[in-house]
Parts: sequence; C-alpha cells; structure tokens
Amino acid sequence: MQEPDRRGLMLVLSSPSGAGKSTIARNLLDKERDMSLSVSLTTRAKRGSEIDGTHYHFVSESEFLRYQANDGLLEWAEVHGNYYGTPRDPAEQAMRQGKDMLFDIDWQGALQLFEKARADVVSIFILPPSMAELKSRLERRAEDAPEVIAKRLENSRLEMEHWKEYDYVVVNEDLDKAFQEVRSILIAERLRRERRPGLVNFVDGLLKIPKN
Ligand code: ADP
Ligand code: 5GP
Repeated sequence: MQEPDRRGLMLVLSSPSGAGKSTIARNLLDKERDMSLSVSLTTRAKRGSEIDGTHYHFVSESEFLRYQANDGLLEWAEVHGNYYGTPRDPAEQAMRQGKDMLFDIDWQGALQLFEKARADVVSIFILPPSMAELKSRLERRAEDAPEVIAKRLENSRLEMEHWKEYDYVVVNEDLDKAFQEVRSILIAERLRRERRPGLVNFVDGLLKIPKN
C-alpha cells in the first residue's frame, strides 16, 4: 500500500451542553467533505430532530454493556446519567486510511483519547460567552425537558472546569466567528510536519531537479 500523504487527525470538540459544539460540528462537516463524524453509541432517549445512525446509535443499556465487554469502544463515559461511547472500528479505520475524524465527546472521553493516541488528537474546548446565554440556548433549543435542562446546567460547571486540558479554546459568541476559528485550527493542524510523512519523498524529488 502506498503511504498516505498525511496521517489523519482526531478532532475533539467538547463543551458544556448548549455552548454550540454540535452546531459548529455540523457546519464543519458541511464544509470539510472528507472529514467524517464519529457516531457515538448512547443510552439516552432520542430527541425529536435526531436520526438513529446519523446523530447517534441509540442503544439499550444491555447493548451498550455488550459493546463495552467486547472491547468495541475506544472510549466511553457516563454523562448526565446516560452512557455514551465511541465505537472503535470506524475510528481506527479512518486513522489507518489517513482520514480526519470529528469527535463530539465530553472531557472524560477526551482524556481517554489523549491516553491512547495523543499525537493524533487535536482538542478544542468551546465556551459560551456567559452562563445566562448558555441557559437561554438550552431553552431555545427546546429539545430537552425542563428537568433535563436543569441537570445539564448544573453539570456545565463541572465540564467547564476541564477547559485547561485542551489544546485550544474557542468562545462561541458569534457563530460564524467561532466556526472560522475552529476551521482555522483544523487547517493549521493538518499542515503540521509530523502529520505529513509524504513530504519526505516530495522534498527528495524537489532536490533531485538538476540545477541549470
Ligand atoms: P451543544 O451541542 O454544545 O449542546 P448546540 O449546538 O445544540 O449545543 O447549540 C445549542 C443551541 O444554541 C442551538 O439551538 C443552537 O442553534 C444555538 N447556538 C449555537 N451557537 C450559537 C451562537 N453563537 N449564537 C446563538 N445561538 C447559538
Ligand atoms: P448530548 O446528550 O447533548 O448529545 O451529549 C451530552 C454530552 O455527551 C456531550 O458533552 C457530548 O459531547 C458527550 N458525548 C457524546 N458522545 C460521546 C461519546 O461517545 N463519548 C463521550 N465520552 N462523551 C460523549
């Protein structure tokens, strides 16, 4: 097999619920057609707008535990009282093929990916501009019951305590600006020398050009 031009990277987006990471992720996948989303398993209930297999694989607790027991998860965590996990096979296949993959996972999952593949992970923490705006975004999204929203707000402080563990931090006040910042990080990280083994041959070729 020919060596891929560059190694794929694992772009991790985390944030407290409602800060806008799914919106930014969606916009990024729209523009970056070669990038794929890691579709997680979750035991939480499907929201009205979500599609099984596209946003998540919605599974029962026993199915989730079976995956876990068979080493089918690259990482997993309990978040807001439900289980979430990254299926191992699609992520490992993407990395082998030099493809970039986007992970919308929490800080516990990010730490597990750091332990497994630090060199391949680029992590971005998305912050809301204020707690009042975070609350109003959760309410405006109007896809969760009031008690679920209350629990997510309560947990948001715990999630935010982990911002320092990430490579980059983006404040999502203006969506277009935040999106451009995330995309700029991706573009720059793709150019890192260590991710581009194909450059060795390229530069060898350049140096073989006879001088005139
Ligand atoms: P998360 O995935 O972090 O839980 P979402 O992407 O679902 O958050 O965003 C929560 C809500 O906030 C959605 O209704 C989304 O349209 C809205 N939203 C996202 N970014 C912004 C922004 N910069 N300004 C205003 N509303 C936003
Ligand atoms: P939501 O229920 O709003 O879709 O997601 C709740 C939280 O779980 C978010 O912080 C999201 O990033 C996180 N999450 C989603 N999938 C995974 C996963 O596979 N692993 C981990 N660790 N967290 C996940």
